[in-house]
Amino acid sequence: MTVSSPDEDVTLQDTDRVTGRAALVGNARAALAVAAAVRSTLGPKGMDKMLIDQNGDVLITNDGATVLDTAKVEHPTAKLVIETSITQDQVARDGTTTSILILAELLRNALELSRSGLHPTIIADSYRSAYSLCMEEIDSIARPITSDEDVRNIVSTCIGQKVDSSILDLVCRLALDASESIEIDDPLGERLLVKRVSIEEGAVTDTELISAFVAKKQRFDKSMSNHGGVCSIAIIDGGLEIPEVEFDTELEISSLGIREGFIQRKKEKLERLVSHLESLNVGILAVRDGVDEEAQGMLRRAGINCYRRFDKEDLHRLSEITGATIVRSIETAESVHLGHCDSWEERKVSGVHYLHIFSNYGRGRTLIVRGSTSALRDEVIRTFDDALGVAVRVSGKAPMLPGGGSTWSHLARMLRNEASKHTGKRQLAIEGFADALETIPRVLAQNSGHDPIDRILELSAAQMKSGPWTGFDLMTDNLVSLDSIGVIDLRMVVENALSGATEGAISVLRIDDVLWAKVEPGEPDWNQNDDED
Ligand code: ADP
Ligand code: MG
Repeated sequence: MTVSSPDEDVTLQDTDRVTGRAALVGNARAALAVAAAVRSTLGPKGMDKMLIDQNGDVLITNDGATVLDTAKVEHPTAKLVIETSITQDQVARDGTTTSILILAELLRNALELSRSGLHPTIIADSYRSAYSLCMEEIDSIARPITSDEDVRNIVSTCIGQKVDSSILDLVCRLALDASESIEIDDPLGERLLVKRVSIEEGAVTDTELISAFVAKKQRFDKSMSNHGGVCSIAIIDGGLEIPEVEFDTELEISSLGIREGFIQRKKEKLERLVSHLESLNVGILAVRDGVDEEAQGMLRRAGINCYRRFDKEDLHRLSEITGATIVRSIETAESVHLGHCDSWEERKVSGVHYLHIFSNYGRGRTLIVRGSTSALRDEVIRTFDDALGVAVRVSGKAPMLPGGGSTWSHLARMLRNEASKHTGKRQLAIEGFADALETIPRVLAQNSGHDPIDRILELSAAQMKSGPWTGFDLMTDNLVSLDSIGVIDLRMVVENALSGATEGAISVLRIDDVLWAKVEPGEPDWNQNDDED
C-alpha cells in the first residue's frame, strides 16, 4: 500500500506501509517461514539439510544455526528471528532451533488471538506473565549435578545427533577436558583459549587436545635448529625492524655519506635490541610484525629462535599458554614479561610446517583435529565448539532439566492449570503461550516418525503420574526416567531459549506499523565530492 493521504508527512511518500493486523500477519508469516526451514532438524532423529552456496560448495548439516547462517533473508522480522537464534548460540551455545520454533509459534498463536479480538498489548502482557511463571517452575524442577557422568550426559545430549556415535565419545571427552580451565564469563572466551587446528593427516579418532600452542609457521632462519628444550619466550606486539628512510636523488647527491650513516645507526640499533634479548636469556622470540633481514645473523649468533607475523589472537593464545606478557616493543621487555616453554619443535605434516610450543605453565590448549576430508574436520570442530560451550556452562546451582521435550510439556501443563484461574482474554493468551511451548515435544515426536498428538497425550499422562522428569528417549522410544538415561537439557539453554523467544515475540507484537523505504536503483551521484572545498 502506498501512502496517499494528504495530511501524512511528506517524508512518507517514498514509503510502502503496512499497518495493524496486516503488519502482524506479515511478521508472523516471516517468522514461521524461518521456523519451517529448521523444524525438521530438531532432535536426535532430525533430518540433515544440504546447503549449497554461490560457489556450489556443499555443506550437509542438521544444525539449525548453521542452516540459518547460510540463509539469505530479507524480511526484517525473519532477520529478528535469526538474531534471536544467534544470541541463543552466543549466550547458551545450544537450543538455537528450540528458540526459533517457540518464537514462531508464539507469533502464530498471537495472530490467532488477535483474530479473535485480543489486543496485542494484552497478548504481550499475558506472555510476559506466563514467562515469569515458567521461570519459577523451572526453579522447582531443576536438579543439581551429582556426578561427572551427569556432565557427560548433558554434553552428549546436546551434541548427540550432530555427530557419528564413534566420535561422540571422543568429542565429549575432549570438550570436558578443555572446559576445566575455562570460566563461563572468561573475557578471553572459549575460542581464544582453545585453538583449533585442522590437519589433513590421520583419522578423526586421532584428534587430540594438547597443552601447546600450534600454528602454521616456519622458522625465519633455516640454518637454525627446528626444535629445542626448556627456554623462555618473549612476545612482542610489534617487529624487529627499523623503518627504511627514503632518500631522494637530490639529497643523495649533495650529501654522500648520509645514507651510510643511517644504515650504520640502524645496524647498531638492531644489535642493541638483539643483545637486550640475549641478556634476558630469551630462547624464542615471537613478533607480530616483521624481522629485518639484517637481524637474522645477530639472532643466530645470540641463539634466539625467531618466529614472525603472528596475528593478534595467536599472540594472546601464546601468552595464555606460556604465561608471557605481550609487550609493545623489544626495548620495553623485561624478565618478568617472559613466558615459559617446556619444549618446542616444527613438525611437517603434508608439506606444511607446524610450530608447536609446549608449555604446562599457563592456560590454553590446542585441539588438533584430524580426518580425511575438510568437511568432516569442520563438522568435528563445530561439534567440539558446541560441546565445549555446554561443558563450560554446566555450573551454578541445579543446572539440569529433563530433556526430550519433557520440560516444555511440563511447563505447558502448569500454564494451562494457571490459565484456568484467569478469565476471558488472559486465559486464552496464557493458553496460547502454553501451546507454543508444546511445539518442542510435538516436533520431536514428528521428526522421529510419531503422531504428535498421541505422543503429547501419552507424555503428559506419564508426567502426571510420575513427575516432570519422565519422558521419551527418542533413541529407544521408551518412556523412561530421563536422568537415568542421561537425556538432560542444560537449564541455561532452556531459560535462554524461553527468554529470547518471549522477548522476540513481544517486540514483534508491539509493531503495528511497518514502513518500507522504496529502494529504486538510481544513477550514482558522480558529483558528490565536487562542492566540498
Ligand atoms: P537445538 O538447536 O534447539 O539445540 P537440537 O536438534 O539439538 O536442537 O535438539 C535438541 C532437543 O533434542 C532437546 O530438546 C533435547 O532434549 C532433545 N534430545 C536430544 N537427545 C535426545 C534423546 N536421546 N531422546 C529424547 N530427546 C533428545
Ligand atoms: Mg542442540
